[in-house]
Amino acid sequence: MTTTRRDFLTAAVTAAGAAVTPDLAHAHGHDHDHEHDHQVVPSDPALRVKALESLMVEKGLVDRAALDAIVDAYEHKIGPRNGARVVARAWVDPAYKQRLLTNGAAAIAELGYSGPEGEQMMVVENTPKAHNLVVCTLCSCYPWPVLGLPPVWYKSAPYRSRVVIDPRGLLREFGLQLPDDVELRVWDSTADLRYLVLPERPAGSEGLKEEDLAAWVTRDSMIGTAKIVKPAEGVPA
Ligand code: FE
Repeated sequence: MTTTRRDFLTAAVTAAGAAVTPDLAHAHGHDHDHEHDHQVVPSDPALRVKALESLMVEKGLVDRAALDAIVDAYEHKIGPRNGARVVARAWVDPAYKQRLLTNGAAAIAELGYSGPEGEQMMVVENTPKAHNLVVCTLCSCYPWPVLGLPPVWYKSAPYRSRVVIDPRGLLREFGLQLPDDVELRVWDSTADLRYLVLPERPAGSEGLKEEDLAAWVTRDSMIGTAKIVKPAEGVPA
């Protein structure tokens, strides 16, 4: 079953109401021991989002349908496959790769990908001697036009702090053991500048066409928490 953003917010508010109600019931002052099925209050961010959205709709600043359409587009239509096509093009077209590394946003726009959260893009290239890793230590800045919406872990406090404190240890937890002689570069995204990792073209991909190469490119490889390996037979990338 698919839970839409609207369902989620509705459920959050309903749960909040249910959690508050038993306390109101106790307000008449009786004193007894019993167990309640207290519902868990939804997270602060969920409630804050709902409150902000309600206010903005009430003041006529936004339209709920337009908001849903934007979120749906980034959740379901725009995602890491855009970035994968950019990477695959760079692998097969050296002139394109040069343009991509020189002016990321312009080269990405050549393939038709642009928009909010991608106005300024820097593309950083992995090589046998250098590996790039992207974070937003402050919040969750992420290149929407090429990667869609960020995964939950990207926004989490542990990722954002450990990437600075112990990036090699963090990569090991992602299953990536980086040799000591490979330089690790950590890039901190900002509201103004977003990063895309250009992963190394993996062994075994020689002779593949551009669209087949794109199928090998994973979201995590473009954040820098993974390398690209040849997909196992019969397993989609
Ligand atoms: Fe951020």
